[in-house]
This record gives sequence, structure tokens and C-alpha cells, in this order.
Amino acid sequence: MKLIFLGPPGAGKGTQAAGVSAHLGVPHISTGDMFRSAIRNQTPTGLEAKRYMDAGELVPDSVVIAMVRERMAMDDARNGYLLDGFPRTVDQAIALDEIAAPDAVVDIDVPDERLLSRLTGRRVCGKCQGTFHISKLADEHTCPICGGALYQREDDQPETIATRLKAYHEQTEPLIGYYSGLGKLRRVNGDSKLEDVFKAILATLE
Ligand code: ADP
Ligand code: ZN
Repeated sequence: MKLIFLGPPGAGKGTQAAGVSAHLGVPHISTGDMFRSAIRNQTPTGLEAKRYMDAGELVPDSVVIAMVRERMAMDDARNGYLLDGFPRTVDQAIALDEIAAPDAVVDIDVPDERLLSRLTGRRVCGKCQGTFHISKLADEHTCPICGGALYQREDDQPETIATRLKAYHEQTEPLIGYYSGLGKLRRVNGDSKLEDVFKAILATLE
């Protein structure tokens, strides 16, 4: 199965993608995670991407598409994939259709006013990359899964969040029309409990 998860920043794409990819046995490919790892390793792609990410802007298409093309050529992606955070522009979607077109596109819907608190309260584990919300953590600094140290992403500051939401509405939202025109769009309400969103996603893929 070749799948895309679409939705605004903070919609829960990463969390749901991890669960669904394990369930379906396809690799979870997150361009945001790939960039953060490239930044940690100080690769040329990481150095290029960092200034855009810190500002809350999209990394240029040419950089993202080259990185995804390379990742999709690896063995594990041969029989399917779950893309999280890509495509984010119509040009990226067109490039993906040439590399390996998706079977279905899950759009996780969450209203803007709910996204702000989700993003400002988000914490990430530096060790296992799990993401958590402070409202559900007994200890704000320690990963409940692996014990690693939790940190707040630099782009989860309120000013940067506004820029990311603007980029989403202007550059990514047009993909909803693109994929619904191809008959591939499945909409899921992301404004409910994690388990319920998970079930709704699986139901829409049946
Ligand atoms: P979120 O969905 O919460 O905004 P991601 O981890 O998916 O977070 O992305 C973080 C940042 O990485 C984005 O704001 C953007 O700068 C960059 N990025 C990730 N994927 C893409 C993409 N497909 N195109 C352009 N930029 C991207
Ligand atoms: Zn962890």
C-alpha cells in the first residue's frame, strides 16, 4: 500500500503515521524527521534545510524532492510506503506521481484554533523521536517510553507556528483539490482521541 498523510502541522500526522505504518508493515517516511536527522549529522541537505525550518518556511522543492527520490529508491520502500509531511506542494505531488504514485491520501482535519495549543505543548524525545503533549506527561523532561530527554522543537515557538500555518494554507492545502480530483482523498476528523483517529484512518483504508 502506498499512502500519504496530509494535514496541517500539529494534526497528529506523525503519531498516527507511526501506528499505521507498523499496522500495515510499510515504512514510515517523514521528511521532517529526515531533515532533523540531516541537521544533527550536519549534512549539506541539513545545513540547507535548517534556515527554512527554523523560520517555519518550506524547504525548496528541489531539495525535498531529491531527498525523497533517494529514500524511495531503497529496498524497504519497494512494496509500499507511508509518507508523512510529503508532498507539501503541488509540484512535489507531481514529482511523486512520477516516482511512485500513491494509492490513497488520508487528510487529517483539525481546526486552526486547536493546532496552536497542540504545537506549543508538544515535546519530542531526543532518543526515540517519539512526540508527546505536556498535558499527558507526568514528567515534562523525560520520555515515558524510553527514558530519553524531551525537548521542544525550535519551530514550535508561537511566532514560527503562525508562519507554518500560513505555509500550510497557501502551499499545502491545494493538494486536497489535487488528490480529490484524482479520486484518492480520504478525509478523517483529527480533532478527537488518538485511538479514535487511528480507527477512523484504518476504516477509511478498507
Ligand atoms: P510539522 O508537520 O509539524 O510542521 P514536520 O516535521 O513535518 O512538522 O516539518 C518540519 C519542517 O520541515 C517544515 O516546517 C518544513 O520547513 C520542513 N519540511 C518537511 N517536509 C517538507 C516538505 N515536504 N517540503 C518542504 N519543507 C518540508
Ligand atoms: Zn524516547
